[in-house]
Amino acid sequence: MQRIAIVGGGQSGLQLALGLLQRGYKVTVVTDRSGEDIAAGRVMSSQCMFHTALEYERELGLNFWEQDGPYVEGMSVSIAGPDGSRPVHWAARLEKPAQAIDQRVKYPGWMKELERRGGALVLETCTRARLESLAAEHDLVVVATGKGDLKDLFKKDPERSPHGQPMRALALTYVKKMTPRPEFTAVNFNIIPGVGEYFVFPSLTTTGACEIMVFEGIPGGPMDCWGDVKTPAEHLAKSRWILDTFVPWEGARCREVELTDDLGVLRGRFAPVVREPIARLPSGATILGMADAVCLNDPITGQGSNNASKAAHAYLHAILERAEGSLTDEDWMRATFERAWEGEGVGAATVWTNALLLPPPPHVLELFGAANSLNGIASRFTNAFNDPRDFGSWFLDPAGAKGFIAEQRGAAAG
Ligand SMILES: Cc1cc2nc3c(=O)[nH]c(=O)nc-3n(C[C@H](O)[C@H](O)[C@H](O)COP(=O)(O)OP(=O)(O)OC[C@H]3O[C@@H](n4cnc5c(N)ncnc54)[C@H](O)[C@@H]3O)c2cc1C
Repeated sequence: MQRIAIVGGGQSGLQLALGLLQRGYKVTVVTDRSGEDIAAGRVMSSQCMFHTALEYERELGLNFWEQDGPYVEGMSVSIAGPDGSRPVHWAARLEKPAQAIDQRVKYPGWMKELERRGGALVLETCTRARLESLAAEHDLVVVATGKGDLKDLFKKDPERSPHGQPMRALALTYVKKMTPRPEFTAVNFNIIPGVGEYFVFPSLTTTGACEIMVFEGIPGGPMDCWGDVKTPAEHLAKSRWILDTFVPWEGARCREVELTDDLGVLRGRFAPVVREPIARLPSGATILGMADAVCLNDPITGQGSNNASKAAHAYLHAILERAEGSLTDEDWMRATFERAWEGEGVGAATVWTNALLLPPPPHVLELFGAANSLNGIASRFTNAFNDPRDFGSWFLDPAGAKGFIAEQRGAAAG
């Protein structure tokens, strides 16, 4: 049986490891933080995952918190006017619900499960030198270290990386006591032209149910405003100021909010980048990158954990199908990455996410406006978050958008 080393115990690394263990592989996961440290640490993500990505977890028996956490049943889109008005505002249901389990809950639970399934969990910060020894002792080394330094071993792919710098100033605020939205739970996605985006949805954190606020400020704009924030209380106050100033209907839901915990806040920025999936170590050994380590997206579309689950699924099946062949053959390694990129739609999610970081073109504004009265558009937009390959033919294509709007108008006219 092949021996697999996975560096990085996050969404993709743990999911792949647990899938391989279920099939009897010998798996070592090298990761830099213990479950206890993660559980007691700072939030890392907002991690909303849609149906396909959740199904891949369910297939491996990893949906331990599904019954405890709230489902996300739909999506609402609003565009803010300059005067606090809301010229675009609509909502649609997801065909199958999404869910967001705080990684501070999920990763420690999955690490325990890894050991229960017989995996070796090594707590250490993996270095380049350590990668050499792992490569010597295993048939395959997968690097799944997310935004950690080891990503720099993988060369940037300029054709797949259109943005050379951070496109948003990011912040997360985990809160409780937010007024629930009416009708159904949802990702409320708010676009503030020229300023940024704000989205919010329910989740399960270490202290129970919560709502996660995600702020995406255009660099240099009024929502790129976190520089002087030092304390958790200041972070919450700044979050509320943004809502009251730019999206008052969201501010109105937050009169009573409190932080879930002092570490339920995060601020930062990073450039989205796609890298070559294979790196060669000084010894000549090859290693394979997975998920954020080689395909890092801005969170604006909430696709990163989804992509990580889809990549882990693709890599798992590529490895299972390769029981006899070499796992360091470069053609196989590249095909494995492409299986996620093409076969699972990670590439389409990346292209769409990168497009959303630019000012919306006229056909997108027309689509959002038309969805005010045409539920078919609202519904298609909402459900394409599960599989962003659907966006290519209409959302990203002006002619396709025109045709789709005309078709929906025709259907509505009867
Ligand atoms: C603000 C924000 C909001 C987000 N919201 C969403 C969302 O709503 N929906 C969504 O789908 N995605 C979202 N994401 C993205 C999502 O969290 C990531 O894409 C996903 O966690 C990536 O999984 P991964 O396995 O590649 O890496 P990670 O989950 O980051 O795991 C990497 C692991 O490797 C470890 N590590 C790093 N370096 C080393 C080393 N040298 N040695 C050993 N271990 C190491 C880390 O400690 C970590 O445990 C968001 C991200 C951010 C920043």
